[in-house]
Amino acid sequence: MNPVRSLLLAASQSDWLRRHATTNPAARRAVLKFMPGERLEDALRAGGELAARGFGLVVTRLGENITEAAEANEVTRHYVQALEQIGSAGVDCEISLKLTQLGLDIDPELALEKAAELAKRSAEAGRRLWIDMESTPYVDRTLAIYRRLRERHAGVGICLQAYLRRTQADLDSLLPLGPAVRLVKGAYAEPQSLAFADKRDTDESFFRLADRLLAPEARAAGARLTTATHDPALISRIQDLAASRGIARDGHEFTLLYGIRRETQTRLVSEGFRTRVLISYGSYWYPWYMRRLAERPANLGFVLRSAFSR
Ligand SMILES: Cc1cc2nc3c(=O)[nH]c(=O)nc-3n(C[C@H](O)[C@H](O)[C@H](O)COP(=O)(O)OP(=O)(O)OC[C@H]3O[C@@H](n4cnc5c(N)ncnc54)[C@H](O)[C@@H]3O)c2cc1C
Repeated sequence: MNPVRSLLLAASQSDWLRRHATTNPAARRAVLKFMPGERLEDALRAGGELAARGFGLVVTRLGENITEAAEANEVTRHYVQALEQIGSAGVDCEISLKLTQLGLDIDPELALEKAAELAKRSAEAGRRLWIDMESTPYVDRTLAIYRRLRERHAGVGICLQAYLRRTQADLDSLLPLGPAVRLVKGAYAEPQSLAFADKRDTDESFFRLADRLLAPEARAAGARLTTATHDPALISRIQDLAASRGIARDGHEFTLLYGIRRETQTRLVSEGFRTRVLISYGSYWYPWYMRRLAERPANLGFVLRSAFSR
């Protein structure tokens, strides 16, 4: 792995740096490149402008690895209210969340109970609920909870990471459920024994997974692909593949992150592809922001410029 990327991912785990960064005005300015603000209202305001241009939305409140059950209650209450606010805003907007935000580290049953409550509320509002995928120690537990959620709620979607060697087998076991899968490359520092170190291997794995999700049998079973990458080569290979199988432009979906490759986002929508933008908000942005920097260490130049501008 690129040493700057490793360093940034290691720094993403530091509590000391998190405490300092979140109160530092320059860091707070720099983070605005990737999120419109810390409040849901900020996300919905920016999302309203995107919705007017034809985008769907996904929102997520940043946070992970909570340590008290009371926090899981608070996060759940927050998302229940968020669903109400989204309903009032009248936008096509889904919620995505991390199970460690709902207490997975404390007790998987607690995370399941909270996620089931939110899956039920999302289904009542006619919206999909997305479960993020976190680092490898959480993958088995996340998939186990996803399966249990799917027993009751067909509309729940799961994120799968193409960089993990295990993901092809995970997809095999999920396909009979007809899952909605958000395919990503993967954002964490993982050992080579578990994840591909070479970008080309990850990209090939991504394409193979997309290929299987777009196969006629998988689609007939209800599987749906959301391609969540900013990589233009992969996006175009997947578009060609879907077209060659006669899948309409709105028969699969793209989701990109707010502020990243805006020109690609605009092009996708203008070409008639179903496209969402995932907007993050919340005050716990430090580890998430460091993962965004690690994806593109050139962004560090932007951070430094923000630090020296007013
Ligand atoms: C909707 C969505 C949901 C996600 N959910 C998860 C999740 O649940 N779990 C998880 O592990 N990961 C998640 N990710 C992150 C993902 O794993 C990657 O780390 C991230 O998308 C960057 O990889 P990439 O696919 O864009 O490809 P890359 O090969 O990293 O990038 C392709 C191109 O996109 C641009 N780009 C990418 N990242 C940046 C950046 N930070 N700043 C500026 N330009 C950039 C660059 O032009 C780059 O050349 C999600 C990503 C998206 C889009």
